[in-house]
Amino acid sequence: MTLRLSWVLSSILLVLSSTGIAVRAQGSKPPGLAQPQDAALAQQLSQLLRRGFDHPQQALQELQKLSAAPTSADAEAQRALRLTEGRLQVFASDIDAAQRIADALAVEPEAAQIVLVLRAEIADRQGQSELAASFASQTLEAAAQDCPREDLLKAMPAPNCDYRNAWSALRVLARTQYKEGALPQALSSARYALALAEFGRDPALVVQSLGQLALLVQAQGQSEQADSYLAQALKAARTDELSQANLKNYVGSVTGMRGEAATQLKALEEGLRLAKLADAPRLAAHLQANMADAYLRMKQPALALAAANQALPVVLSFKDLRLERTLRQNIAVALIQLGQFDQARQELQRGQDLRGASADQGQRAEELRELGEAWAQAGQAKEAIALFHAERKLSAELTASNREASLRELKIRYDSDRKQADLALLQRESSLVEQQLANRGLAQQASAAVAVLLVLTLVFVVMMVRKVRAARQRLQANELLLRAQSERDPLTDLANRRHLLAVMAMQPKAQFTGALLMIDIDHFKHVNDHHGHGVGDQVICEVARRISHAVRAEDLVVRWGGEEFLVFAPDVDQETLRRLAKRILMEVGALPVQAQDGPLRITVSIGFAHFPLPPAMLDLHWEQAVNWADMALYTAKSRGRNQAMGIATVAAGDAEALMQIEADFDAACSSERVSLHQVLGPAAI
Ligand code: GH3
Ligand code: MG
Ligand code: MG
Repeated sequence: MTLRLSWVLSSILLVLSSTGIAVRAQGSKPPGLAQPQDAALAQQLSQLLRRGFDHPQQALQELQKLSAAPTSADAEAQRALRLTEGRLQVFASDIDAAQRIADALAVEPEAAQIVLVLRAEIADRQGQSELAASFASQTLEAAAQDCPREDLLKAMPAPNCDYRNAWSALRVLARTQYKEGALPQALSSARYALALAEFGRDPALVVQSLGQLALLVQAQGQSEQADSYLAQALKAARTDELSQANLKNYVGSVTGMRGEAATQLKALEEGLRLAKLADAPRLAAHLQANMADAYLRMKQPALALAAANQALPVVLSFKDLRLERTLRQNIAVALIQLGQFDQARQELQRGQDLRGASADQGQRAEELRELGEAWAQAGQAKEAIALFHAERKLSAELTASNREASLRELKIRYDSDRKQADLALLQRESSLVEQQLANRGLAQQASAAVAVLLVLTLVFVVMMVRKVRAARQRLQANELLLRAQSERDPLTDLANRRHLLAVMAMQPKAQFTGALLMIDIDHFKHVNDHHGHGVGDQVICEVARRISHAVRAEDLVVRWGGEEFLVFAPDVDQETLRRLAKRILMEVGALPVQAQDGPLRITVSIGFAHFPLPPAMLDLHWEQAVNWADMALYTAKSRGRNQAMGIATVAAGDAEALMQIEADFDAACSSERVSLHQVLGPAAI
């Protein structure tokens, strides 16, 4: 199983939410005591929340007692109690109850900030990350005046800063930023959160902030920096077992990201022992889920199954659908690895029913890929290929929706510029008309003056027309420039999909002719996971350069998606096409790529075909042709990668037969209705 970085991070950050508010160090009075004024009540509420993650019902009962106490009578104390109740309901998975509390608080103007933070936590819990991030940003805006950023916080007093709310908002924000790939912003949020935890002298929050920072810097491949954060966290955790257990979870994830499976397991086991000592069953379940993941990576499915099955009842009792999904996925992969296919299918069916538990398409694609690999390793090619296709479809949708969003943004910006220019022209034109009318009035009084004015007006009109024309020309030029820019991929400077679309628009509609090669970098996720996205980008650029070098001047190389390229060779015969595929395999794979942290061996897999497909030479639309190249690519992937598979002949007499083959390509290959050429890549170096 591959290292599932995004899952590891989101699961860890999820645990963070659990202990969002923690006990302060005994005896040290925190500087920020805005709400509530009563330090003793604040501390009691922190303690309740800390226990509440693992024992929400018990904590809710204790909260009721606390609400009835005379010390809780004033309005500020009541608000703090209601916020705590809302958070406990989130822990207890009673989202409706939490929502009702937020709605009720919303009528009080003084409660604005706590309503925002509660809504952020609710949305976060439901996996609505965009909404959660928006509430979190609003919380931070509301808190900005009272809680200055990082360094300022150390330098100046901040008596009204409610550091806990800002801290919780930053945690939600950091997670969303990480998910969107905005690592620098995620790091900045996490650093601010650490400054707040230190400002509040809150050791439990300090530990979690440091753990989060360790994960984020490790995601960038900075192991030393990650170790340094973890060492600081160890000091801050002191003898507190819950903090220590949390910290071990971070250590497990950081070492797991480095691929140090044995160290990872040791940390997680130790974390589990500590979580049990601290009476924290839910944290223990998170640790066991991470252990299951680690065991799967070590190819120990029986142990993975045992760990996941131990965690499952706890997770079910907490109605934690997100973690349940992850566990069921792990159980399914373990069962596949154990050869218990029927049970695995049942488990997958149960996981399917939980699909709604996560709106995160990226994670879903990750799960599909992992399952696909498990089926492939178990020799179940049919299921593996179906999953590869499903995963690719989802990935393509993701890439497409990202692209559409940025094009939309570009268009909105462009449209509003154009509208402004049109409005300005309109205004000028209308003032011109007014002036003409005035001139007419004057003409009745003095014909000489009219003549002069008419000449002046005429000159003015000519000038205006010229100006309008010049403005139009500038707009047209801008439009052309925009179009040219929007047809280039900014990272590799290759043509993008939009450009291919424009080229294809010139082909006869349903008669695509020429050859297509679909190219995908092998195991590229490893590059990102082990060397960071920066190196990943470098590799994509270098592969783009090598492919461009391998093809002929008349071939068009397109960056099709993340690490996928499409070559359109308009004029090529079968033999030249095979040589072209070989050249690309060799050019990319023969010599290591010199990345900033050393040489990397990179290979690609290719699916290619010449259209129309022999021998029947049926007409195809170009998008269908891309699909054929794609199917061949996935055959190349499933046969071991670092190779090209080309479609030589297809036994289909009409369009319907062709569609039937498309529907089950793999079976068509096995029954020799489709014959393939194999072209091997370079031997290992
Ligand atoms: P396979 O051999 O099956 O192709 O394995 P793979 O790991 O290459 O799998 P897949 O093609 O699905 O992974 C593509 C990954 O590329 C997923 C995404 O995180 C990453 N990626 C996509 N676009 C970019 C990019 O612009 N830069 C970087 N660094 N990574 C990207
Ligand atoms: Mg890919
Ligand atoms: Mg790939």
